[in-house]
Amino acid sequence: MKSVGLIVAVTLMSPLLMAEDRPVVHHYFSKTPHEHVAEWSYSGSKGPAFWGQLDPSYRLASNGKHQSPIDINSKTAPAAELPELKFDYRRERIAALNNGHTIQHNEAPGSFLFVGAEKFSLEQFHVHTPSEHTLDGKRFDLEIHFVHKSKTGDVVVVGVLVQGDEKSDLDLPLYRDLPGTPGENVAFEGTRNPSDFLPRSREYFRYIGSFTTPPCTEQVRWLVMQQPIGAQPKIIERFATILKANNRPVQKLHDRVVEKSK
Ligand SMILES: [Zn+2]
Repeated sequence: MKSVGLIVAVTLMSPLLMAEDRPVVHHYFSKTPHEHVAEWSYSGSKGPAFWGQLDPSYRLASNGKHQSPIDINSKTAPAAELPELKFDYRRERIAALNNGHTIQHNEAPGSFLFVGAEKFSLEQFHVHTPSEHTLDGKRFDLEIHFVHKSKTGDVVVVGVLVQGDEKSDLDLPLYRDLPGTPGENVAFEGTRNPSDFLPRSREYFRYIGSFTTPPCTEQVRWLVMQQPIGAQPKIIERFATILKANNRPVQKLHDRVVEKSK
């Protein structure tokens, strides 16, 4: 059932805060669609190859050396003693906002991720079709990004790779009634725990990267779950029909090392 007009906080961002030496401020933390400094897209003259030229504040999209997404090589990634992940998400009513670039759920306060002793609040999660990260060169059908922030402004994004699987019984939220139009917001009956959309294994890859949309701000800690999850192909098709291809191409690794938990 649809209910339009979920109450959300409006946060207007100043372009001045986009400078790279300031805390990460990004539309990932915005609750409303369409407030970019310059409009961008996933194809044509405003596509990913041109993002860095669309506005000075987007320059990292061209010049950044720690950009995301990347191809993750599971064979060469060194195994490391990485902090344990604990997802302390709460059950909630899921709402889906089509912001013109993705479909996302804005989180109410109260869901947390613990990375060892560090605490991050879940701010929102959203999807890309197909996946943005590739694993050993393989692209997955869909990727979910869980975006978290610490009290001091550190950003952790958890990436979950999703593969089409006829046998999957995972009911990705709302797929039958996803918001097809930018600006549309759909809230669904009943409650779900967002941790239902995580793989059983808590093993992950870790590297330092960026947001995958302009201004492509860096110093984002990426935790990409090693184990993909499955979802019915019809669910993935529904997302893909609305979002088309909203995946940024993979970026060069440069001097970075991707580690894997063991
Ligand atoms: Zn994303």
